[in-house]
Amino acid sequence: MKFGTKAVHAGVEPDPSTGAIMTPIFQTSTYVQESPAVHKGFEYSRAQNPTRFALEASLAALENAKFAYAFASGLGAIDAVAKLLLPGDEVVCCDDLYGGSYRIFVRIYAQYGIHFKFVNLSDASELEKHLTDKTKLVWIESPTNPLLKIIDIAEIAKITNAKKILLGVDNTFASPYLQNPLDLGADLVMHSITKYLGGHSDVIMGCLMMNDEKLAEKLKFIQFAVGSVPAPMDCFLVLRGIKTLHLRMREACKNANALALALQNHPKIAKIYYPGLPQHPNHEIAKKQMRDFGAIISFTLKEDTLEAATAFFSKLNIFALAESLGGVESMANHPPSMTHASIPKEERAKLGISESFIRLSVGIEAEEDIVADVLQALN
Ligand SMILES: *Cc1c(COP(=O)(O)O)cnc(C)c1O
Repeated sequence: MKFGTKAVHAGVEPDPSTGAIMTPIFQTSTYVQESPAVHKGFEYSRAQNPTRFALEASLAALENAKFAYAFASGLGAIDAVAKLLLPGDEVVCCDDLYGGSYRIFVRIYAQYGIHFKFVNLSDASELEKHLTDKTKLVWIESPTNPLLKIIDIAEIAKITNAKKILLGVDNTFASPYLQNPLDLGADLVMHSITKYLGGHSDVIMGCLMMNDEKLAEKLKFIQFAVGSVPAPMDCFLVLRGIKTLHLRMREACKNANALALALQNHPKIAKIYYPGLPQHPNHEIAKKQMRDFGAIISFTLKEDTLEAATAFFSKLNIFALAESLGGVESMANHPPSMTHASIPKEERAKLGISESFIRLSVGIEAEEDIVADVLQALN
């Protein structure tokens, strides 16, 4: 089945009791049993909920996965992955990581004796030297947030598969429409559903997808035991959002590409980060592993100050100054003071996230209006 058909139909069956075409919102915490332990497969909604199950089936189909589990947030999903680890284990992460992922690893799990290394994996061959007998997990994003580095997932997977190290990919920035890491050899895919999958800036949710049955059993147990599950109403909203994922992604990518072209030689811009531009250092890898280049553009200003960035944000009319991304509406973010404030300033500077660093999430408004808004704010 092609992607658009899966987005509309996968996981969603007409309700057997009424024929309702849309999955009902099973807003219930528990289920009545006929006699002790005799029931219809549903006992308690932390463990089983039909609205969540429909969503999980849809999510699995989108990533060509056998299993998918939904969590109360993207970080709830990452937390479940971290719970696979034991004291003494080592994790290698890409160096440009979502601020909240960095925070949960370094401020929570490092306390329990798990060691995290952050490595620039734009060149996949770098990975090998950082692996030891204790490395249990390699955790990457591609495109990364906010520098939009592209990591060669198939090359990384060759290395981790040979050493039987778990490879997890945070696929939030690409969405399943643009990239399917399991098909490239990864073991585990994670999404902040809050972003493109939900797509309407109205839900916080996350998920994990995988093919290996043993891994699935462990993660399902963690989901149940810890209880960071999403609410039925939110699962319904995400099922609705997914139906237009392919249309939204297509439009947002087209708009982002037009904006990147309009900004690439702009006199006020010092450096632009967009994997769709041929001068992007990993443009060829992006072409190989993605179906389009995504809808996030980052850049720095020639006048590299917080004041210059603030002036830019204040002049935007269509772009909303907000954390988050992936909604139908265009959003502008200042990583140093917003999404990436939890990363120490010196670390940020080393990565190139300077004071005027700006990240745009391009939405699905009219292309002309989006380009005009950014150009007038720069000028
Ligand atoms: C937003 C985000 C997360 C965290 O997800 P939440 O749903 O906010 O908990 C993780 N990774 C990436 C790349 C993100 O953009």
